[in-house]
Amino acid sequence: MKKIRGIYLKNESELQVMREANQIVAKTLAAMAAAVAPGTPTLHFEEIARDYCKRYDVKPAFLGYHGFPFALCCSVNEEVVHGFPSQRRLQEGDIVSFDMGVVYRGFFGDAALTVPVGEIAPAAADLLAVTRASLAEGIGAMTVGGNLADVSRAVQKYVESRGYSVVKRFVGHGIGRSLHEKPEVPNFVAPGAKDIPLLPGMVLAIEPMVAAGGCDVEILADNWTAVTRDRSLSAHFEHSVALTQAGPVVLSELAA
Ligand code: MG
Repeated sequence: MKKIRGIYLKNESELQVMREANQIVAKTLAAMAAAVAPGTPTLHFEEIARDYCKRYDVKPAFLGYHGFPFALCCSVNEEVVHGFPSQRRLQEGDIVSFDMGVVYRGFFGDAALTVPVGEIAPAAADLLAVTRASLAEGIGAMTVGGNLADVSRAVQKYVESRGYSVVKRFVGHGIGRSLHEKPEVPNFVAPGAKDIPLLPGMVLAIEPMVAAGGCDVEILADNWTAVTRDRSLSAHFEHSVALTQAGPVVLSELAA
């Protein structure tokens, strides 16, 4: 594994292991999404996360990370990220975000998605569609010879053109032998941001968090759960994406 300006570049065999790690995450997230229904306590999804980790003999990446007490981040409605699974029961019309990571043969996988609970309001459905599409825009901008800021700009431009705001408090990240590697992957272009060329072998966890209202967040008394300050709805989609000579490869896209 080469390291350039603090960024690890993965070789083909390392990318293969990372693909397997991320496929396990993808399968887990798909099982959770399929289990979403009104009346289900969110702790049920923590059980699914742990079951899948056992089944595939991998370690949950988030459990114990800086003291995080669960394998799964489960965030409902105005919760942006890092919510706790609990006895809270999902209700028709809610949206629920699952963010999940694993460690497999020394490499991390990380992905997230937001799922509707039963019938949701058109405005909520639009927020989900825009957030998912903004991730695709970011991935599309990840090209050899491009710059990291292209990815950030693509996400931000798409989100803001649809009248929503990107949450700036949390950012995506490089991923590999550590959950969070260099570089940070903001969902916005920061003035004076460093020029970071995109190189083959980079793996980025791109993860737009989008708010229907303002972008300000606050952290609840549990010291983890981030909510929008104005309590507007928030959605979150994340993929771990490898850059190859042929372009971006989404490692955490569920294989057919
Ligand atoms: Mg992540």
